[in-house]
Amino acid sequence: MTTYKRILLKLSGESLMGEKQYGIDEKRLAEYAAQIKEIHELGVQIGIVIGGGNIFRGLNGTHKGFDRVKGDQMGMLATVINSLALSSALAATGVKVRVLTAVRMEPIGEFYNKWRAIECMEAGEVVIMPAVTGNPFFTTDPGSSLRGIEIEADVMLKGPRVDGIYTADPEKDPTATKFHDITYDEVLKRGLKVMDLTATCMCKENNLPIIVFDMDTVGNLKRVMQGEEIGTLVHN
Ligand code: UDP
Repeated sequence: MTTYKRILLKLSGESLMGEKQYGIDEKRLAEYAAQIKEIHELGVQIGIVIGGGNIFRGLNGTHKGFDRVKGDQMGMLATVINSLALSSALAATGVKVRVLTAVRMEPIGEFYNKWRAIECMEAGEVVIMPAVTGNPFFTTDPGSSLRGIEIEADVMLKGPRVDGIYTADPEKDPTATKFHDITYDEVLKRGLKVMDLTATCMCKENNLPIIVFDMDTVGNLKRVMQGEEIGTLVHN
């Protein structure tokens, strides 16, 4: 039994680097795939958005003189690379997986639409959605909020390196304490950096709860899905 029927899992591209400085760490990739397989076996419908920060971020390119739109398109392509890697790792574990891209690029993936995504999840496939919104001036945070709302997920799971939301940055402030749960209004009032402002407001307006937890500890994804309160729940 799980608490949620359908989830949007947002994975950070940066975490995919593992111990490396750039690109994809095969061990981390395999760990992610194994964790996703575990919850897939519980019967959860899974949509995934994965970032591209381990390869390229549009804004970093702008600082180096790239045109912002082209930089963001490069960032979106980085999310495609990560999504293909994850789809391959998942398929290797025996999980059926579908890649639905926000920008047409058959045969790399099918062109995304909400109904196709839901159809595939209901048929037992894990759906990965690279290029995310397909638009520049977005990152995968608001992108995953958008997709989570669109696919009618019950919750968005955000797996960064920290194990929840704290009163201050725990890596800088040893007195920081972790929230068990917090409202969107409180996140906005305190200016907490859970996600960017657009993403936070979208989730608030559309009533999509988020659980922030440490996905890099193997087994945590299953723990969250079984209702263990190991991260921070953000809600209205
Ligand atoms: N990006 C974009 N539109 C989108 C999603 C992503 O332009 O809908 C680009 C943007 O340049 C972003 C990059 O893709 O910086 C990689 O995503 P992100 O920075 O969110 O990756 P993460 O921090 O999660 O690794």
